[in-house]
Amino acid sequence: MTVAVLAVQGDFAEHEAMLEGLGAEVFEIREKADLDRPFDGLVLPGGESTVQGKLLRELELFEPLREKILSGTPVFGTCAGLILLARRLSNDGNVYFGALPVTVRRNAYGRQLGSFYAEEEFKGIGKIPMTFIRAPYIESAGEDVDILARVDGNIVAARRGNVLGISFHPEVDGDTSVHRYFLDMVEGKR
Ligand code: GLN
Repeated sequence: MTVAVLAVQGDFAEHEAMLEGLGAEVFEIREKADLDRPFDGLVLPGGESTVQGKLLRELELFEPLREKILSGTPVFGTCAGLILLARRLSNDGNVYFGALPVTVRRNAYGRQLGSFYAEEEFKGIGKIPMTFIRAPYIESAGEDVDILARVDGNIVAARRGNVLGISFHPEVDGDTSVHRYFLDMVEGKR
């Protein structure tokens, strides 16, 4: 199983380490030529969504990746990656891949409360650590979206079909369960 990790900006290296630890073959997407290599799943890491969106366009990665996602390739976006996947942003005029029918609020926890830690239930996994870093959350989700986790009533993980988006950063907690969940999606086991 081969997983491509978008590596134009943000904390892609931590995702790569975690995926490799779980036995996946991993490579980085940095430029258009990297898309010649086939992959079974795609990870969009946290970072800064505006920067990532700009680089995706400049590097001509945007359209081919969008096609891959919309045609059913399993994709896992964390934090900025969730923002790239959302169909609508409530406090930002941009829309990127638009693949997950949710409305996302960027920097939803305000500046002072920019980073925090919680432990909550993740549907199908159980209670897991969740680290939030200038995180977005999902304000509303379409009816066909499976809500996987909430913190203080706000949706922080959701999935529809091949698209998984979460607000927090499992790659920094040493807990591999959400990455395992995604690899199960890639393998068609979830
Ligand atoms: N605040 C960032 C954004 O709006 C996301 C933060 C993150 O990915 N850790 O893009």
